[in-house]
Amino acid sequence: MEFSVKEENLVPRRRHLHMHPELSFQEKETQEYILKELKNMGIEGKKIASTGVICRLGPSSGPAIALRADTDALPVLESNEVEYKSKNEGKMHACGHDGHVSGLLATLETIKDWKLTKGVVGLFQPAEEGYHGARKMVEEGCMEDVEAVFGIHLWNTLAYGKIGISEGPVMANSDRFTIEITGRGGHGSMPHDCADPTLAAANVVLNAQQIVARNLNPMKESAVISFGGIKTNSFVSNVIPESVSLCGTVRSYEEPVRCLVEKRLGEICQGVELLNGLKADYKFVRGYSAVVNDAIGVKMATQAGQKVDIAEVVPAPKVLSGEDFYYYNQEGKVPSCFIFVGSAINDGVIRPHHSPEFDIDERALLVSAKLYCQIVYDNCR
Ligand SMILES: [Zn+2]
Ligand SMILES: [Zn+2]
Repeated sequence: MEFSVKEENLVPRRRHLHMHPELSFQEKETQEYILKELKNMGIEGKKIASTGVICRLGPSSGPAIALRADTDALPVLESNEVEYKSKNEGKMHACGHDGHVSGLLATLETIKDWKLTKGVVGLFQPAEEGYHGARKMVEEGCMEDVEAVFGIHLWNTLAYGKIGISEGPVMANSDRFTIEITGRGGHGSMPHDCADPTLAAANVVLNAQQIVARNLNPMKESAVISFGGIKTNSFVSNVIPESVSLCGTVRSYEEPVRCLVEKRLGEICQGVELLNGLKADYKFVRGYSAVVNDAIGVKMATQAGQKVDIAEVVPAPKVLSGEDFYYYNQEGKVPSCFIFVGSAINDGVIRPHHSPEFDIDERALLVSAKLYCQIVYDNCR
C-alpha cells in the first residue's frame, strides 16, 4: 500500500449518519450531508435520482470507474444502547449503508489530490432497500462513460479482516407471490357441501416444496420457496372458510431456475383448482434480479483486495438476499464486482442485517476505504 487513507472521519461520519437514518427516497438530510462533506473537500457533488448524489473526479469526460455506496435506512426500531443510537425512532441503519457512505466519502477525500488519468465517479445511491434506487440512478445517466463499476457491502456473516469476492451470482433473484384461494364455505360437519380452501392451501404449501426437491438439479441449482403467511377469511372451529390467502418469497440465482419456479407454482395452483374444485388466483411479482460478478470485475477487485494490508481476500459468502446493484452492469455490458467486507463484531453475538441489534465492527470501514482507494490507485493513475 503506497498511500494512506484519510481515515480520521470514517467513524464520526458513520456515527453521524447512524444517528440520522432516513428511509428509501426520503434521504434528504443524508443527501445534504454528503453534498456538504464533499464541498468541504473541494469536490462538487450533484443531486441525482431524487435523493442521491453523484460526483466525478479526474478528467471531466472520457472513461471512468464508478464506486457505489447506498444511502438508505430501514423501518426498524434500534435496540442497541450505544452513544450513536438512532435519533429517528423507528428508523435505523440496520444494513450498514451508513458505513458505505462513510467509506466512499473517505475514499474520495483520499484520492481527490491524486493525478488521475481516468475518471472516478462516486455514486451515492438512495433507496436500495426494495425501491430500485439503482434503476433511477442509471436512468438519469450515472453510467455515462463508466467502464467498470464496484459496490461494497459491509457484511456481518463475514469476520472482520476478510474481503469476500467471487465470480458469478452473489446475490439472488428476489421475487414474491400471492395466491388467493376462493372455495365454498359452510358447516365444518358437512365438508361434502363445501369446497375447502384450507385443504387446498395445505396442498399448495406442501407441493411447492417439491419444486426445489424434485424439479431442480441438486448438483448445481438452488432456490428457496418460503411462505410468509396463510390467512383464512374466518377463524371458527366449526366453519369451513370461504377463502384463504397465501403469500411468500422465492429466491434463486439463475434465470432459468427463476422461470421454472414461477411456472411450477402456477401449475400447482391449477392442479389444486382441479383437485379441490375451487379458484386459486396466482400472482408472481419479480423483485430484484441476481447480482452477478463477471471475470473482469472480479479480477480488478481481487488484485486490489490482495494489496489491502489489513485484510485478506476469501470467497464471498453466498447469500439469497436481494440487491439492486445489478442495474449498474447493464445486463453484463459493464464489468462489475459486488464485494463483501467482513464487519462482524467478534464477541459471539449474532447481529443480523435488518435486525434491531445490527451493528458493525467499525474497523471494517477502513478496509472498505482502502479497497476502494486501491481500485482507483491500480486503474485510474
Ligand atoms: Zn439491506
Ligand atoms: Zn444493504
